[in-house]
Amino acid sequence: MGDVTNLSLADVSRALSEKKLSSADATRGYLDRIQKLDGKIHSYLLVDEKGALAAAKTSDERRAAGRALGPLDGVPLGIKDIVLTHGVETTAGSKILKGFRPPYEATVSKRLREAGAVFLGKLNLDEFAMGSSTENSAYGVTKNPWDLERTPGGSSGGSAAAVAAGLCAGALGTDTGGSIRQPASHTGICGIKPTYGRVSRYGVIAYASSLDQVGPMAWTAEDCALILQTIGGYDPMDSTSLEAPLPDFRAACSSKMGDLRIGVPKQYFIGGLDADVEKAVRGAIKKLEELGGKVVEVDLPHTEYAVACYYLVATAEASSNLARYDGVRYGYRVPAPKDLLDLYMGSRSEGFGAEVKRRILLGTFCLSAGYYDAYYGKAQKVRRLIRDDFVKAFEKVDVIATPVAPTPAFKLGEKTGDPLQMYLSDIFTISINLAGLPGMSVPCGFSEKGLPIGLQLIAPHLEEERIFRVAGNYERATDWHAKRPKL
Ligand code: GLN
Repeated sequence: MGDVTNLSLADVSRALSEKKLSSADATRGYLDRIQKLDGKIHSYLLVDEKGALAAAKTSDERRAAGRALGPLDGVPLGIKDIVLTHGVETTAGSKILKGFRPPYEATVSKRLREAGAVFLGKLNLDEFAMGSSTENSAYGVTKNPWDLERTPGGSSGGSAAAVAAGLCAGALGTDTGGSIRQPASHTGICGIKPTYGRVSRYGVIAYASSLDQVGPMAWTAEDCALILQTIGGYDPMDSTSLEAPLPDFRAACSSKMGDLRIGVPKQYFIGGLDADVEKAVRGAIKKLEELGGKVVEVDLPHTEYAVACYYLVATAEASSNLARYDGVRYGYRVPAPKDLLDLYMGSRSEGFGAEVKRRILLGTFCLSAGYYDAYYGKAQKVRRLIRDDFVKAFEKVDVIATPVAPTPAFKLGEKTGDPLQMYLSDIFTISINLAGLPGMSVPCGFSEKGLPIGLQLIAPHLEEERIFRVAGNYERATDWHAKRPKL
């Protein structure tokens, strides 16, 4: 058995089931590599060495007794630090939750644990998942393993960087406006935001509740399929969870392309789109055509309003969700407050970072009496138009293919002084959240500077299978997903 940290999650899973590898060795392999490399990447906020080794041992014993639980049994994973893990510090990248040990476990991590997965630790993110570069974390910046001067994207930048650097076999991310797909694209891995309601958010710290979804990030579509199969499906603890049956996503990866119709929206190939990104994405679409896909131009006319619409809806919901952090029951509390108001104001002023405060202010403003109709109400109407654009487009096509991000990974510090520029880096991903659709980023090339580029595949509600089918066929025909950064 070679170096485990070079394997895809599915390969680790196969090696475990063929008993060519023990979970203890796999876990040790990742822990050693974290020790050796994460000092320069900073993808982990917490490494649970003891917990991971204990879970690996239990998994090996289970397997030896012939009671292995399934494909994720013994597989070492990393978890974005916005998912509550019982008794294990969960911060959401915020000072306001420093030291917070959740009294319960999120459904997604519970399902993974019950499937035998080993948790290596908690991964860095932009504070409360607000950002596109992981520079908004209160606990330091995560670097892109392909170029340490660049961002891995965000907000699931820790998850993306950890997978890309071989510091876990797969990871959980969350995606409110692109936070799984954009970092996956910037680090050359695969990541899918499932349909809104496909995966439970019970125990996942809320950012914008009408947009948030949890999803897998790993090297290949098959890897992501294995994780989604485990975390997906109805959960009575989340009122937005859908009672839809869970198809076999792994089987979808290996099914034939057939003559799927691939929609290409002209609104996603606009001025400002980096030439290398355009070339890679157009090349990928050509490849899909060679594989049997029928390429059709589609129209998504309200795309240009998506950024404005999203930053009203998301901030409005965030301002309300974040009201619970008041320094009273848990989290950061300002020392020696004069009175109750001082306790609230001091704890929130000191506990939240600048971007989070900006969003609370924006969101509170657009929900306030007198402005509600003009901003929040209007944004909800525009959201409907954006969703209807997709419904119409999907009358003509089965899947839509676009770029994930307008540029490859940008330099650390490049956009921190200009929030609007940062917001614009989500231009191709946020409509998919506004419409509640599933979307994936699949590696589809490199820029001239050697930075990874992703192709976005979008499907109608609950049709993740189509995405896995296209991605699986694409990966069999190309080797972008197999490239690894030199570290
Ligand atoms: N960059 C977007 C934002 O800051 C999306 C983040 C996310 O998907 N969590 O809101």
